[in-house]
Amino acid sequence: MTAQVIDGKAFAATVREKVAGHVARLKEENGITPGLAVVLVGEDPASQVYVRSKGKQTVEVGMNSYEHKLDADTSEADLLAVIDALNNDPTVHGILVQLPLPKHLDEDLVINSVAPEKDVDGFHISNVGLLGTGQKSMVPCTPLGCLMMLRDHHGSLSGLDAVVIGRSNIVGKPMAQLLLGDSCTVTIAHSRTKDLPEVVKRADIVVAAVGRPEMVPGDWIKEGATVIDVGINRIDAPEKGEGKTRLVGDVHYESAAAVAGAITPVPGGVGPMTIACLLANTVTACCRANGLAEPEGLTA
Ligand code: NAP
Repeated sequence: MTAQVIDGKAFAATVREKVAGHVARLKEENGITPGLAVVLVGEDPASQVYVRSKGKQTVEVGMNSYEHKLDADTSEADLLAVIDALNNDPTVHGILVQLPLPKHLDEDLVINSVAPEKDVDGFHISNVGLLGTGQKSMVPCTPLGCLMMLRDHHGSLSGLDAVVIGRSNIVGKPMAQLLLGDSCTVTIAHSRTKDLPEVVKRADIVVAAVGRPEMVPGDWIKEGATVIDVGINRIDAPEKGEGKTRLVGDVHYESAAAVAGAITPVPGGVGPMTIACLLANTVTACCRANGLAEPEGLTA
């Protein structure tokens, strides 16, 4: 079998288009422009790239983008004061604090200081609890993007056997909750899982979120399974020239694509969906804040 490629780049474009449509309607019918504030502390180069990209895409769908760039040595009190002001600003519907934070700042404290209804990352403990109890919440962007692609591919996920490899708070655990919410039979695997190849082999859906380049080979995959590769790993690529690198996922793409029914590539799979879902979450948050009907298909 040669897997169908799930094109995350194209899918993300359709999500952004839907978001842009809702933004235009909110402006026209309600006089409201959704606003997303991103807070960046310090000068981590990767974080700067992400923040720039988020700002650009926010503006492209017609929303207001607010960027707060703070020095690397900003005190916790000063950062909390910025977040407090954003929590109380009615023009801001979504707040994202770019992680990782410099070491002197308490990440949990900062995450939990964002108003839960504006927590478009879905990391606030209230949103984690709401998701875990099957209630309406803000859903973390990367797993939300994976869920959207799975729903689009399968229609119903009910009764399917899903294995999530990785148990991080930002990907693995919320992904498992979302799959459970869609009535999959869910296994969460991690570094202590015994006989991982056997565990993966029984899955109709495999979500790999490990951070180890090409760790999952094709012979772990059940014939016809759907493979969602969250991993983003940079490896040396001497074939491209000296000192060159390339991106690979946590799944060995060629061997997995030979047995899977469908697979997301890296790059161009899960990655582009993450920012698209951030924009989707901001529109959802804006509608909830204003007591308006939520757009369909943009949240879990
Ligand atoms: P993380 O916090 O480092 O978690 C990795 C998980 O993988 C842990 O639960 C760990 O198990 C498990 N693991 C490590 N080695 C393993 C092994 N040999 N066998 C089975 N499980 C193993 O990573 P993360 O933040 O979830 O990110 C995972 C990957 O997704 C990374 O490549 C990251 O760059 C990528 N990512 C992509 C996006 C996107 O937008 N596409 C967003 C977020 C993350 P233990 O808990 O037992 O240590």
